[in-house]
Amino acid sequence: MAVNLLDFDLEGLTAYCDSLGEKRFRAQQLFRWIHQKGASDFDAMTDLAKSLRAKLAGVAEVRSLPVLSEHASADGTIKWLFDVGGGNAVETVFIPEEDRGTLCVSSQAGCAVGCRFCSTGHQGFSRNLATGEILAQLWHAEHRLHQRFGLAPTERVIDNVVMMGMGEPLQNYGALVPALRVMLDDHAYGLSRRRVTVSTSGVVPMIERLRADCPVALAVSLHAPDDALRDDLVPLNRKYPIAELMAACRDYMGAAPRDFIMFEYCMLDGVNDSDEQARALVALMRRERVPAKFNLIPFNPFPASGLKRSSPERVRAFQRVLQEAGFVTTIRKTRGDDIDAACGQLAGEVLDRTNARERLASRRVVGIVPAEAGR
Ligand code: SF4
Repeated sequence: MAVNLLDFDLEGLTAYCDSLGEKRFRAQQLFRWIHQKGASDFDAMTDLAKSLRAKLAGVAEVRSLPVLSEHASADGTIKWLFDVGGGNAVETVFIPEEDRGTLCVSSQAGCAVGCRFCSTGHQGFSRNLATGEILAQLWHAEHRLHQRFGLAPTERVIDNVVMMGMGEPLQNYGALVPALRVMLDDHAYGLSRRRVTVSTSGVVPMIERLRADCPVALAVSLHAPDDALRDDLVPLNRKYPIAELMAACRDYMGAAPRDFIMFEYCMLDGVNDSDEQARALVALMRRERVPAKFNLIPFNPFPASGLKRSSPERVRAFQRVLQEAGFVTTIRKTRGDDIDAACGQLAGEVLDRTNARERLASRRVVGIVPAEAGR
């Protein structure tokens, strides 16, 4: 199979060009064509020598992921379903906001962590995505939206990426880091470290490695103020309990591009949403001295979970306790409800892989269709 150039960060592409006997600056030109201009046809890369274009055409390609569907919500949210082979699909969600365009990207087909409140977790793990498959989501979305909005070549649609789609990104570390580097690279997407967020359920050793290798913004799926409850909701906690997780977060702050860590907290009726638990959360953060902000997420119910969404009043009361203790606390807005892209915990993380599989088997819809028509 031809080499997929989306699998390389700039260093990797330079080494690859080297192996073809090409000068290093060619890699930079090629990198720009691919990521800044969205080119996949070597013939279109007019400032590359004809001989190089011919060479590449024989051995390499820019291989994106096949799009199974693209649905646009009335609120501007757009969701893509990508075919990753073997009957698996991953989802990617674009969320336009007033001041930014956020893309929620998947890192794995399925997930092995098995959080109780997460539909992806309930479906089990299929496989890690390659760097090129992680980047294909951004590559496709950026250039598709660019075209759709008729923007100038220098304008960007996506200026914020959150690794909060399907999968635990830090359990696919080897593929994740080069993908992050491409997102940050000025010759590619040029995103600031503050605008690229890795969200983890708490893979402690990898938080430490990320701090050294590529410290972008960090979000942690916490969901409970104590080990007993977190062991039940996020099984990874049995391996890396809260105290270890907090120590890793504290260390991470030494390199973090933001002066806080975002803690995600999925609000589950009668499970983790009492005032007492909010106070326990405050005590935890004070004890551990981790600069924290909270994002409270209305649970997106699915039958196998046996869990229910907290009432809006309960979520607000929980928020009040945190705010009165001085913690910036937001409640995640539900976006893209009409296209099944609403966040149940982390954007996209609860998108039902069973649904994805059924849809994958039943139809291939390419092109933006109104949500109702796509159901
Ligand atoms: S919440 Fe995240 S880490 Fe937990 S099972 Fe779902 S995708 Fe995996």
